[in-house]
Amino acid sequence: MKKILLGVFFILSSIVFTKDTILVQGAMDIEVDTLVQALEKPQKEQVGAWTFWKGKIGDKDVIVSRTEVGIANAAASTTIGILKYSPTVIINQGTAGGHDPKLHAADIVLAKKIINMGAFRTEPKEYGIPSDQKDFLFFDVVQRIRDKEGNKVENESFSSDSKLMEIAKKINYKHGKVVEGTIGTADQWNRELERIKSLHEKYGTAAEEMETSSVALVAKAFDIPFMGIRVLSNSEHNKEDFNPDTAVWCQEFTIDFIKNIK
Ligand code: SAH
Repeated sequence: MKKILLGVFFILSSIVFTKDTILVQGAMDIEVDTLVQALEKPQKEQVGAWTFWKGKIGDKDVIVSRTEVGIANAAASTTIGILKYSPTVIINQGTAGGHDPKLHAADIVLAKKIINMGAFRTEPKEYGIPSDQKDFLFFDVVQRIRDKEGNKVENESFSSDSKLMEIAKKINYKHGKVVEGTIGTADQWNRELERIKSLHEKYGTAAEEMETSSVALVAKAFDIPFMGIRVLSNSEHNKEDFNPDTAVWCQEFTIDFIKNIK
């Protein structure tokens, strides 16, 4: 009887006290350096072109992942990170360019909605009719995944996990505003104001960057809670050039966020 009770206790406690393993990503050195410094006893591990640092922040097992830039790098490094470390939470964070004129460099956007704004198709047009980005139609086919039963799952957009979002909204941040908003992802860096304006009007984007939707897709395909956190490092609207300090502030915010995950 005692043995059975002890067994039940261990099973229950392993369910209740299962520790999170957090995979936290940044694309560039300046977007991971502060996170790596925050790790206790970091161990560096390399798979192909992608680097991971394994360690602890407080009582949590944390893997910092340098994804490199762009959607292909982001998808590959996320998949490797999942297969190698079995994370229970995936966080993608880093810098972004402002699409919403009301937002300034140093403001943080928590990714409520995530759009692959590079995915589009066009209808036929004859020679002589100029291409016009206003006619581009969203091409959701590239976001289709399958569930475990093999059924197709269409994704018009992705989102951060609602519980993680509630935690992120409560983190104190002194360098700017923290807002919930739409992140637009593409292998693009847009500086033309008319183009930025039309993307903002079409998708309601707060900011653009090059990894979030790719990571959100892979996280969803593996059914792992995802959180996107982006700091504005630049804004064409407001004539604010890339400020590398913002990458540090975003990581500091993310470290506080990780400590607050229950
Ligand atoms: N100057 C860098 C290139 C940065 S590429 C170099 O030569 O290495 C842009 C990276 O910063 C991407 O990882 C992207 O997610 C982010 N980013 C910041 N501002 C951006 C913007 N305005 N548009 C697109 N990506 C942006």
